[in-house]
Amino acid sequence: MGKRVTVIGGGIGGLSLAWHLKEQGHEVHVYDANEHWGGVTESSEEHDCILELGPDSIIRTKPAAMQLIKALGIEDQVQDTVEANRQALIAKGKRLIPVPPGLYLMAPGKIWPFVTSPIVSWFGKIRMLLDIVLPRSKSDKDESLADFVRRRLGKEALERIAQPMVGGIYTADPEHLSLRACMPQFIEMEKEHRSLIKAMMKRGKAQKAVATSGPRYGLFISLKGGLQQLAHALIKTFDQDKLHSAHRVSDIKKSENTWQCHFENGDMVESDILCLCGPAHGHAHLLQNACAELSTALDSIPYADVATINIAFHKKDVPNLPAASGFVVPAVENRNLIACTFSSNKYADRSPDDVCVLRAFVGGALQAHQLNKNDDELITAVREDLKDLCKISAEPIFTKITRYSKAMAQPSIGHLGRVAQIRELEAQQDGLFLIGNGYEGVGIPDIIQQGMDVAKRSA
Ligand SMILES: Cc1cc2nc3c(=O)[nH]c(=O)nc-3n(C[C@H](O)[C@H](O)[C@H](O)COP(=O)(O)OP(=O)(O)OC[C@H]3O[C@@H](n4cnc5c(N)ncnc54)[C@H](O)[C@@H]3O)c2cc1C
Repeated sequence: MGKRVTVIGGGIGGLSLAWHLKEQGHEVHVYDANEHWGGVTESSEEHDCILELGPDSIIRTKPAAMQLIKALGIEDQVQDTVEANRQALIAKGKRLIPVPPGLYLMAPGKIWPFVTSPIVSWFGKIRMLLDIVLPRSKSDKDESLADFVRRRLGKEALERIAQPMVGGIYTADPEHLSLRACMPQFIEMEKEHRSLIKAMMKRGKAQKAVATSGPRYGLFISLKGGLQQLAHALIKTFDQDKLHSAHRVSDIKKSENTWQCHFENGDMVESDILCLCGPAHGHAHLLQNACAELSTALDSIPYADVATINIAFHKKDVPNLPAASGFVVPAVENRNLIACTFSSNKYADRSPDDVCVLRAFVGGALQAHQLNKNDDELITAVREDLKDLCKISAEPIFTKITRYSKAMAQPSIGHLGRVAQIRELEAQQDGLFLIGNGYEGVGIPDIIQQGMDVAKRSA
């Protein structure tokens, strides 16, 4: 017989987990503090433009999200990135330099495009190429991204390539980011091939062989109406009396076989299974009384703040925008932005033909101070960088700022050990399940996968 399940958090994680559990025959109720469903996955339509306030893309190589999209019957809504604009750029001085073909996050896979790119100096290039002869590490310690890149490819590769490219994903400080938790593929490359560059070149050849025998897809997808469409497709599958928005949990209590959620409005619900879905610090707060040790462990997962600034211009005012999907900014450039997506280049039909939408990122672990700016100061800061880097000095048609406090999980050194401890303590609590970006992976497919795993365990 189905169990009574309470899911707290109606982001993509909570909704997808709730959907799996409902499909298994459980009686599932979902609660969220917000009025809207989707959590940080928010899309908004303004001035006939589809804006992404939070995430804008799902990586194809992790299958959980695509499996869910297919199961919900919305595969026809999947949108690939515009092929002609897939180029990524890196800021250097007042220039935007194309990431050379074959370069993957930090390591070049093709020598000639890398050698001819002005992305790092000649000294930096020679130092990077030393990777080909350097011995592999004998140590098994959890190394930071910064230590690893300095050791294999040198300081300039870290500052000019790895920090902004990986920082773009985690908005993180590479001195703290755990390579083992975030980019284990590079550890494997070093173990297997010793040199990252050699490993990348082999990988390139293998991919070429595959590409000739089938179509090549872009790595990222979205949905035609924006990613929040996924949340909307999920909630459509629920009876409305099972969905409770504007319900903030203030405390959780545990009795012998059940879990009690107490809400700010005085309501209380009791269930056999309790799923907490969202950031780990939120789970820590809610479990303070019911599971003190687990709560302390959850509090050890650091988070960073970030803001996105959607900014729209008349196309005629941005004649010099490169045919690219956006740029990242190395921290050593000391700019206001950490990255900027050319949203209406990246996905088709996001704005009227004569309008161009860009989306800037500000904040993260290295530039938290930027978020002390008020909205006007933030817009001025964004426009300053767009003027230098994209030669845009026109007045925007409109802007939209969205601030996300403690939203970006920072898998720092020792992360996998901390998560193992959290999972052990969670397993001691019958009927309690935690998913979110503080555990195994920070992206949407990672969190959907965690929900699938919980559904399997509680079947
Ligand atoms: C700006 C930004 C850009 C990103 N870009 C990408 C990207 O392009 N691709 C990608 O894969 N990932 C991206 N990410 C990461 C990814 O979006 C998130 O990790 C993921 O969406 C988190 O989903 P979630 O359901 O776990 O949590 P959330 O979306 O945070 O949802 C948690 C929900 O819990 C609710 N809640 C919290 N406390 C309570 C309470 N006490 N009571 C009731 N409800 C509560 C909140 O209201 C919220 O709706 C991005 C994240 C951000 C912030």
